[in-house]
Amino acid sequence: MVPPKKTHLFDDGQKAPLKDAKRFNAKTTRTNGGDMAMETVIGLEIHAQLKTKTKLFCSCAISPGAEPNTLICEVCTGQPGALPRMNAKALELATKAGLALGCSINHRSLFSRKNYFYPDLPNGFQTSQLDPPICSGGGLEISAPQGSKRVRLNRIHLEDDAGKCVHDERRGKTLVDLNRAGTPLIEIVTEPDLSSSQEAMEFMKKLHSLLVFLEVTEGRLEEGEFRCDVNISLRPQGETKLGVRGEIKNLNSFRHVGQAIEYEIKRQSALYAKGEPVLQETLHFDPVRQETRALRSKEEAHDYRYFPQPDLPPVEVSPAEEEKIRLSLPASVEETTARLLGLGLREELTTLLLDRKGALDFFDRTLALFPEPKKIGALMEEFLLPASLAQNAPLSSSPFQPENLAQLAKLLDEGTLGRRAVQEIFAELYETGQDAEALAKSKGLLQVSDMGALAAMAAEVIAAHPEEAAKYRSGQEKILGFLVGQVMRRSRGAADPKGVGQALIAALNRTE
Ligand code: ADP
Ligand code: MG
Ligand code: ZN
Repeated sequence: MVPPKKTHLFDDGQKAPLKDAKRFNAKTTRTNGGDMAMETVIGLEIHAQLKTKTKLFCSCAISPGAEPNTLICEVCTGQPGALPRMNAKALELATKAGLALGCSINHRSLFSRKNYFYPDLPNGFQTSQLDPPICSGGGLEISAPQGSKRVRLNRIHLEDDAGKCVHDERRGKTLVDLNRAGTPLIEIVTEPDLSSSQEAMEFMKKLHSLLVFLEVTEGRLEEGEFRCDVNISLRPQGETKLGVRGEIKNLNSFRHVGQAIEYEIKRQSALYAKGEPVLQETLHFDPVRQETRALRSKEEAHDYRYFPQPDLPPVEVSPAEEEKIRLSLPASVEETTARLLGLGLREELTTLLLDRKGALDFFDRTLALFPEPKKIGALMEEFLLPASLAQNAPLSSSPFQPENLAQLAKLLDEGTLGRRAVQEIFAELYETGQDAEALAKSKGLLQVSDMGALAAMAAEVIAAHPEEAAKYRSGQEKILGFLVGQVMRRSRGAADPKGVGQALIAALNRTE
C-alpha cells in the first residue's frame, strides 16, 4: 500500500506528527543590553462585570454569595442543544460604556467562540467577540507627569465569564462552581499608550470610577468584578517597534497593578542588561513575594481558535438606540466636578461625592431643599458619608433622607443646634430618621442662642476673670478666645459660639 502523501493523513500505527498552532514563547527580543536607556510600554485589558441581574445568555441570577452550583441551567452549564439568548441590558450597558469613552458603536457586531479547555468552562469555549466587537476606538484622558494624556482604546467587546475552580486544601480536591459561568463582562482593550506604573494605575482608577459612576459595573474589586491584564514590554528609547511583552493576568487591585509593573520593569531590564532574551509569556503576580512568575505551560497553553458562534444572531444596536443611550448619559465626571467646584466645594469633597454611590444624588436633592452647597457638603463629609460607610450600606437604605439633612443644615445655620450636638445625635438620626430638633431637645442639646442668656453668662465669666477682661480692654484682643472658651464650658458646650463672642464683646465694651 502506498503511504499517504497528503499532509492531513497519517500512516496507520504510526505516530501522527503534531502540528503546532502558534506557540507561545516563540518570539524573543535580544538587545546588546548594557546601559542602553529603555522605555516602558504598557497596554491594559480590563474586564468589568456588567451590572445586570441575570447572566448574559440565560436567566440565571448573578449573586456572588450563593451556594455553589445553585445558579445554573442548561445554557450556562453547556448542555448539548441548549440555546443562548442575549440579555438586552448587557447590550445597553456595553453601549453606554462605549459612548462614555468616545468609542464608535458598531451597529452590527458578532459573537465568536474562543475555544479552550478548562474544567470551569463547561462549553469548551468562551463566547466572546472577535471582529467586529461592539465598540471600536475611543480613549480616556488621564493626568500624567507632562500634563494630561489621552490613552487610546482599541476596542470594547462583550463576553461571558467562566465558572470558578475552588481548591479545597483540606480534602486535597479541586471543586468546580459554575455560578459565575455566563456572567456578562466587557473587556476594554487599550492601545499600548501607557508608559509607567503610575499611568497604568491612574488609568485603571479613572476607568473604574467612570464605569461605577455610570452604573455599568458595581466594580467591587475584591469580588473580581473589575480586573486587569497588564501587557508590558521594554524597548530602547526612541525605538518605534514594540518589544516582546509579558502578560500579567488577572490583577484585581490598583496597588498590585503598580507593584507588578515595577517588578516586571526590573526583571525585563535585568534580562536586557545581560543580553538574555525576554520571552513572550503569561505571568502571574504573587503579592506576598512581590514578584511575577510564569504560569506553568499547561495553564497557559490556550491555543485560542476563534470560530463564529452559530447559536447567536449578530448583535444589533440601531442608530436610534445608540442615540437614546447617548442622551441618557449623565453629565460626565469632568462636567460634574466643574459644577461642584463652581458651587464652592473643595476638590476632595467633589471626589467623595462622585465616588460614593448615591452621594451626588443625595447632595443634589438636599440642595434643592436648602440651597447652601458648602454647608450641605460639610455635613455630608463629616457625618453622613462616614456613617453610611461604617454601615457599608447605600445612602438610600437609611431612613435619614435629603429632607432630614436639609433640616439639620437649617437648624445648624439658625443656631438652634451646635456642631457638638450634631455629633452626639447623628448616629441616632441616621438610624431612625427622626426629627433632629425634637431629639436634641429631649437630650438637652439645643443650643443656647438666646442673647439674654448668653449676656448673663458673659457677665459672669467677665466677673470671674477680671485680669483677662482688663487685658482685652487694653487691646489684647486675642484673649477673647479664652473668654469664649470659659462661657462654652459654663454652658457645657450648649452655647452658640458666635453669639457668645458677640455677647462678650458687648459686655466688655459696656463695662469699661
Ligand atoms: P492578546 O489578545 O493576544 O493578549 P492583543 O494584541 O489584543 O493581544 O493585545 C492585548 C493588549 O496588549 C493591548 O492592550 C495591547 O495594546 C497590548 N500590547 C500588545 N503588544 C504589546 C507590547 N509589545 N508591549 C506592551 N503592550 C502590548
Ligand atoms: Mg491578552
Ligand atoms: Zn443559566
